[in-house]
Amino acid sequence: MTIDLDAVYTDLHRHPELSFAEHRTAGIVADHLRQLGIETTEGVGRTGVVGVISNGDGPTVLLRADMDALPVTETTGKPYASETPGVMHACGHDVHVTCLLGAAEQLMAARSEWSGTLLLVFQPAEEVGSGADAMVADGLYDRFPKPDIVLGQHVCPLPAGMIGVRGGPAMAAADDINVVLHGSGGHGSRPESTIDPVVMAAATVMRLQTIVSREVPGSDAAVVTVGTLQAGSKNNIIPSEARLGLNVRTFDEGIRERIVSSIRRIINAEAQASGAPEPDIEMANGFAVTVNDPEATEKTVAALRTVVGDDKVIDPGPVTGSEDVGALATAAGVPLVYWLLGGEDPAKFAAVVTDSLMDKTIPANHSPDYAPLPDPTLGLGVRALVAAARTWLG
Ligand SMILES: [Zn+2]
Ligand SMILES: [Zn+2]
Repeated sequence: MTIDLDAVYTDLHRHPELSFAEHRTAGIVADHLRQLGIETTEGVGRTGVVGVISNGDGPTVLLRADMDALPVTETTGKPYASETPGVMHACGHDVHVTCLLGAAEQLMAARSEWSGTLLLVFQPAEEVGSGADAMVADGLYDRFPKPDIVLGQHVCPLPAGMIGVRGGPAMAAADDINVVLHGSGGHGSRPESTIDPVVMAAATVMRLQTIVSREVPGSDAAVVTVGTLQAGSKNNIIPSEARLGLNVRTFDEGIRERIVSSIRRIINAEAQASGAPEPDIEMANGFAVTVNDPEATEKTVAALRTVVGDDKVIDPGPVTGSEDVGALATAAGVPLVYWLLGGEDPAKFAAVVTDSLMDKTIPANHSPDYAPLPDPTLGLGVRALVAAARTWLG
C-alpha cells in the first residue's frame, strides 16, 4: 500500500477541525496507521492518536505532528480550500499530519534497516497550547514507551527546499492577557459626567507599545501585541467598560516576568490617571519557550542536510511564534529538536527580495491567504522526518 499524500493533504485541508474537535482527522490518521499494520490507539488526550512501531532493541524516538486548524475564513482560492465556514488549516498542521503519515509508511517499510521503537504522536489542540499537556496527562508515557528524543517540524514561509533550525531557545514563550478597563458610562454629549473607557483604552494601548521599545534591552527580543480592543455599542453612548486582549512573546523567563509586570503597572496607572476603578487583569493561556537541545540539534541537522543540501539548512534566528511541542520533551525529561520546513514558492522570494515589504507580501501562518506549496513541501517533510528519526534509531 502507498498512501497518496496529495489526496490526504487536500482532504485534510478541505475539512479542517478546531482544537480538541479533530475527530474526523484523528479517524483518518488511525485508519492509515492501522492499514500500515501499526499498533494504534485513539482518544489519547481527548482527540490524540498514538502509533507505536516496536522493532527490537534500541532507542525510542517520538515523531510529533499537531492536527488542529484555526477559526479563520480561508481566502486562498485554492481548489482544495476549506469547505467548513470560518475554519481553516491556516497554520499548516494538515502538512504536518500528512508528512508524519508518509514518514510512518516509509519507516514501517524499512524496518529491516533500523531497530528500536518509533512513537508516532498525532497531537490535538496545539493552537490553544494544551494538546501536548492533555496527552501527557492522559498517560502518554505510562501507556506507551517513554522516548529518548522528541522530534517534529512546522511548515513556515521559508522557500520550499529550505529548513530552518536553531539550537537553544528557538521559539518564543507566549502569554495571553485579558484586560477589562472599568469606566463610568453615560451620554456622549456629556463626557464630564462619565469616565470614558475608550480614551483610557487608547492611552493604554499606546503606552503598552513603549514597553518593548523603552524597557527591554536591545539585545533581547520581545513582542507586545494588543490583538483585540472592544468597547461601546452606539456613537452617542460612552460605554462603561473596554476590553483589551494582549499577547506577549519572549525568549527569556526574566524578560517575560518583567514585561508582564510592566503591563500591570501601565494598565493600573492609566486607570488611575483616568480616575477609574481598578481594572481586571487576567493571565489566560500560555506557552513556554521552545528550547532545542544544542547537541541533539547538531546531530539532527546533519541528517536534515542530507535531505535538502548543506546550504539549505539555515539558522532562522529566534522565532516569535510559539509551540507546545516542548511539553512532550519536558514531561519525558529528554531533548527536543524542532525545525521549520520551508513551504513557499521560491519564485515569490526572488520577486520581492529587494522589497522591504517582503515579510508583508508573503502570507504567513495564520493568514487567511496562507497556502504552502504541496509539492515539494510534502515530500521533503516526509524525508526530513525519516532522516531525523533514522539518525536516532539503532
Ligand atoms: Zn498556529
Ligand atoms: Zn502551528
